[in-house]
Amino acid sequence: MFRSLHMKLMLIMTLLIISLMTVVGAFLVNSVAGFYLDQFYSQMQSVFQNDPEFYHDLVTPETEEESGAAQIDQMLRARTGDLGVDGLTRNFYVLDGTTGAYLAGTNETEGASLELTHNLSAALTGQVGDASDPTAAYMDVAIPVTRGDRDYVVYIKDSKQSVQSLTNQLVVLILEALAFGIAISVLLSFLLSKTLITPIERLTEGAEEVAAGDFSHKIEVDSRDEIGVLTSTFNDMARQLQSTIQEVENERNKLDTLFLHMTDGVVAFSQRGEIIQSNPAAEEMLGRKLPIGGEVSYASLFGDMASLKEVLEPGLLGFITGSREQGERSLEFLLAPFDRDHQAGVLVVIHDVTERNKTEEMRKEFVANVSHELRTPLTNIHSYAETLVDSAGALPPDMERSFLNVILSESERMAHIVQDLLTLSRFDSGKSELNLTTFSFAEAIETMVNANRLEAERHGHTLALELPEDLPQVRADRERITQVMMNVVSNAIKYTPDGGRIRIFAGTMDGGRVWLEVSDNGIGIPKADRDRIFERFYRVDKARSRESGGTGLGLSIAKEIVEQHQGSISIVDKPGPGLTIRVELPVEGPGYDEE
Ligand code: ADP
Repeated sequence: MFRSLHMKLMLIMTLLIISLMTVVGAFLVNSVAGFYLDQFYSQMQSVFQNDPEFYHDLVTPETEEESGAAQIDQMLRARTGDLGVDGLTRNFYVLDGTTGAYLAGTNETEGASLELTHNLSAALTGQVGDASDPTAAYMDVAIPVTRGDRDYVVYIKDSKQSVQSLTNQLVVLILEALAFGIAISVLLSFLLSKTLITPIERLTEGAEEVAAGDFSHKIEVDSRDEIGVLTSTFNDMARQLQSTIQEVENERNKLDTLFLHMTDGVVAFSQRGEIIQSNPAAEEMLGRKLPIGGEVSYASLFGDMASLKEVLEPGLLGFITGSREQGERSLEFLLAPFDRDHQAGVLVVIHDVTERNKTEEMRKEFVANVSHELRTPLTNIHSYAETLVDSAGALPPDMERSFLNVILSESERMAHIVQDLLTLSRFDSGKSELNLTTFSFAEAIETMVNANRLEAERHGHTLALELPEDLPQVRADRERITQVMMNVVSNAIKYTPDGGRIRIFAGTMDGGRVWLEVSDNGIGIPKADRDRIFERFYRVDKARSRESGGTGLGLSIAKEIVEQHQGSISIVDKPGPGLTIRVELPVEGPGYDEE
């Protein structure tokens, strides 16, 4: 019931008014009673003590006086004003000095049955009885008077009725004031609650909305007091909170995007080993779905590398690494705890190193190939030169000549290999620039075929060229394209047994491209080797290739050149003996965009 501020305020104010009124009332009633008591005794004092003449008259009998009591009564009646005697609440009595019997006074009925008070007893023994007793229900003064030969007691008694009625009136007044005060306090507390509690209520509503995530709500500031300051501080806080949350949101979005598109796989686990986050790369690398929740556990995915407990406490290094062959892929793993102090969970980063391993493998193979290819002619040169030195002048001249010819051809071969390697390394470093010109594709093919005609004839091959009329001009590096065509045609001549048939076709195709196919009926290439003949140093039959002066680099250089032109070179999948190589080139040259 008293939970609302309004009720509390009202209760406090009512209690305040009641306690204030009680204190004031008690103080007032007490003061009035005290004042009345003081007033009584000072009146008595002024008549009986401070007026010696009156007292003298009181104790001095007149000559042949009949009744002293009547005389005293008369004298007292003359001073009723000074004594405040009204005959109702305050009376005086003239009593017999020894028996205390009533002789005269303002109230005979009362006087006949007077209570023997402390003061009255004192007066009957000859003492002035003027002791005041604030707790008594009356006030009295008893004065012994000896008049002639008789003793009297002048006794004045006030029933305190007028004080009582005054006090009663005061209490009624205070109660009325109290009622009025309570009414005012209710009204005031209502007004106070309006001015104090309404803004607090609005502040509470605003805080609830902010707590529910709505930061746009702005609370109006009406006043400049503490609540006004609090409200505007609250608005500032909500604004600050909104911008902070916005920043955090942006940051999270950025991270989400990064997480979604990063090439490394990431899987996060809770400390119980349940998946709490994963990205598409991780699913692809592990070849399975990674639903959030406990469906797929840490133990089933990475338990073979390290237990969850080990990753949560990874020691000084802060992480654990592992690797695994997953199907065709080579994967490397980094397992680390996040929020290490609270052991919140574990993060696994998966790195696909298949390509890297392959490249590394290829690099090693390439170095081994280069060394081998260079060592063979070098060994030949060395041994022939050694023989020549050892038997200087002893060999027949034609043998000497043939040895020198071998040295010459082997050194030419070495130079050839080095030249090819240089060309390739220029492609690799991107330093090979094309010298683009526009020329007739048909004419370039014809020139190239004519250059090979003699060699073909030497091997008894028929060389057939079939070109369409409308072969367009192409924009390309003529020298390099000729080098590609020469390589393909000379391979056809080389790898076709004597008396073979070599055919060369060309044409145009959709997308602004031209094509050239060189087909032979030679030894062909087994299916297993087809994908690899464009690799560096790859040769199907090493001995045959070397015999015919091949380096195993020709087709890989051709591929680089064609791809630099944004064209393609491939083996045409055709049945039967021999091999068909197809080259495609964009008519407009590299960098041409159809749109
Ligand atoms: P090479 O200098 O050895 O000829 P290439 O790079 O030109 O090197 O060719 C790579 C390999 O491809 C050759 O060693 C050969 O085994 C194979 N090859 C190329 N052209 C043909 C063809 N027309 N017929 C059969 N095999 C071929």
